[in-house]
Amino acid sequence: MKSEDIRPAVLRWALANAVEHGGKADAKAVVGKLMAEMPELRPRAREIGQLVESVVEEVNRLPQQEQLAMLKEVGAPGVIRREGARGLPKLPGAERCPMVVTRFAPNPNGPLHIGHVRAALLSHEYARMYKGKFILRFEDTNPANALLEMYDLIRLDLRWLGIEWDEEFVQSDRLEIYYKYAAKLIAEGKAYVCTCDVSTFRHLRDCGRPCPCRDLPADEQLRRWKGMLEGEYGEGKAVVRIKTDLEHPNPAVRDWPALRVVTTPHPRVGERYRVWPLYNFSVAIDDHEMGVTHVIRGKEHVVNEMRQRTLFEHLGWKPPAALQYGRLTMAGATLSKTQTVRGVRSGEFSGYDDPRLATLAALRRRGFSPEAVRRIILDIGLTPVDASLSWETLYAYNRKVIDAEANRYFFVSSPAKLLVRGVPEMDEVRLRLHPSYPERGERVLPLLREDDILTVYLDGEDASRLEVGTIFRLKDLMNVELTSKGPPLEGDFRGLELMEVPKLQWVSAGGVEVEVLMPDASLVRGLAEPAVAGLRVGEVVQFERFGFVRVDALQPKVAVVYGHR
Ligand SMILES: [Zn+2]
Repeated sequence: MKSEDIRPAVLRWALANAVEHGGKADAKAVVGKLMAEMPELRPRAREIGQLVESVVEEVNRLPQQEQLAMLKEVGAPGVIRREGARGLPKLPGAERCPMVVTRFAPNPNGPLHIGHVRAALLSHEYARMYKGKFILRFEDTNPANALLEMYDLIRLDLRWLGIEWDEEFVQSDRLEIYYKYAAKLIAEGKAYVCTCDVSTFRHLRDCGRPCPCRDLPADEQLRRWKGMLEGEYGEGKAVVRIKTDLEHPNPAVRDWPALRVVTTPHPRVGERYRVWPLYNFSVAIDDHEMGVTHVIRGKEHVVNEMRQRTLFEHLGWKPPAALQYGRLTMAGATLSKTQTVRGVRSGEFSGYDDPRLATLAALRRRGFSPEAVRRIILDIGLTPVDASLSWETLYAYNRKVIDAEANRYFFVSSPAKLLVRGVPEMDEVRLRLHPSYPERGERVLPLLREDDILTVYLDGEDASRLEVGTIFRLKDLMNVELTSKGPPLEGDFRGLELMEVPKLQWVSAGGVEVEVLMPDASLVRGLAEPAVAGLRVGEVVQFERFGFVRVDALQPKVAVVYGHR
């Protein structure tokens, strides 16, 4: 094989490695992956090493944004080739299904964040691609962690992303179904009620030996099962286990637990039930009962899939096809649901939409466009390679979408007063709402001018950098020469014609006080041009030279949330 022929594979691995590691690929790691994919190259390690070095160097010079775009173009390495109408790989066996059915199955124990979007979006996208059915299923069978406020928040998040579901199920409404199957499996000797303490069971399991409960007769098992339902056993005292091969290579799969006793009241159904299915049991039964044909899941579910497979075998069912994707991490943001919920409860975060979080609620509040979130996730696609997303990448995608939509306004933070002398008669200036779209019209910036003195406010930081004698331009208005640093600052009028001097933002008469909530949760106070008072809550605009913001409230004062530059 000639080195030009190897180069495309090297490029794919280098890009994937760079995207995974914040923009910097590691040559050694790339060599390792490449050799694993093409073992025939091993004898040529030196030559390949040099090739990899040069490609990695090239890739590392690219902005992360471009690396991601390029990875999309060349395709993820050694895995799925991209095809199909939407750039997604075809679903295996889809043409043999009468109807493709996919599902998104969140646990309502915390808010959805950017890392969850992949499963939701891809499952939905595939159902639509094949004109199939998309199901939303709340997996709330742990009464101790389900949170009542999450059901609606998750529905809202999905609708915001443009995801509509054809059917909705809540597992806490389906306990009788799980009980029916549990009883059937127990009666058929495919499951049993184990009352051993966990450490005893684990010890036996790890040696591949049955616990004393496993081979008790069916009538004793059923008596125990009835006892579980009727309250004979406390928490941790009895568990229904699915029989598997006791010599299964992975001990975690051997006789895995399917149902257990939980006495904590459930936020939706209270104390009506005391036996609750564990994740794998309810998932497998529901996937079958709901006719799910394809499951798109994180690759951390490999062991779970093995467990579920044993249950499908017992029941004589065909498991859905599973597609794995890699983990998505986000540099500089906590994606842990537990930490998020704890932080909100303790007051560390102001809510699930605290700007420091990467929850969908927080992104929405900061003015991110759902379209940008969709695009970035679909661009990452279904690769099993772990991906790490940065805020910068998210900003770049969002900017592309909102730049055209966001109207422009003047805003100055920590305002500093400036008096300009010798200003000719003028009482307002009209500027376009958006420089590229004159048809949107203009906004009016009134000027506070008495005699020949104009009063304006500059950004505090801009003002602090000015020196006496400097000429600068009040953007889209006039040139000024600074005569005194004050306070207040003073200056002389130096003409209206455009000059090659620094342009500064300003606000004059009728300025509106604005509070900006920053991504680190700090507050920046400033003054915006009067038109800002007339915006709508939820509108995303650009404060020129400051950044994109979303209007959060107009009363009692104007409050906006910062998106990004
Ligand atoms: Zn036992």
